[in-house]
Amino acid sequence: MRRIYCVGRNYADHAREMGADPDREPPFFFSKPRDAVITAEAVPYPPATADLHHEVELVLAVGGSGADLTPQEAGSLTFGAAVGVDLTRRDLQAEAKKAGRPWDMAKGFDASAPIGLIRPGPAPASGAIRLSVDGEPRQAGDLSQMIWANGEILSHLSRLVRLEPGDLVFTGTPAGVGAVTRGQQVEAWAADLPPLRFKLF
Ligand code: MN
Repeated sequence: MRRIYCVGRNYADHAREMGADPDREPPFFFSKPRDAVITAEAVPYPPATADLHHEVELVLAVGGSGADLTPQEAGSLTFGAAVGVDLTRRDLQAEAKKAGRPWDMAKGFDASAPIGLIRPGPAPASGAIRLSVDGEPRQAGDLSQMIWANGEILSHLSRLVRLEPGDLVFTGTPAGVGAVTRGQQVEAWAADLPPLRFKLF
């Protein structure tokens, strides 16, 4: 594990639910600390929030090095893919947005990046992306609805920072984000990748 980058607003329906215009936004990135990744079946509910949101996302694992890459070159650096959840303190994010402040404390807290097993091989470009809470469907979309495709995301990112093996890239979430609370069970799927299951405590 090296760095964790996340794309904001990569599905039109989610961009709209967050009050943004999906057509005019180039991809933008934020990051989480690398030890925010958690693979345990129990995830701690973070402090300092009363509105923890789930965002199911396809996660790309980078297996090669490069900068200033074309989408094709960047896509070929993908080592594998997983399903992940970009846990977000939505209340802190809303405050930060309003004040024009960084999102770090809304996005980059401890255990804010649960991920499933990384499956080696090409990342899926289509297939269902879904999340349920206590068995109730919350988010449902298709990977083909991503505004920026996998290779395009990595290409844009490689023009900002050098990609290196161990980098993880969260590729954005479809509509239906919402709150989760202590004691709830989250299940997430993306195409035929190994599913992710965890309980908040
Ligand atoms: Mn996200």
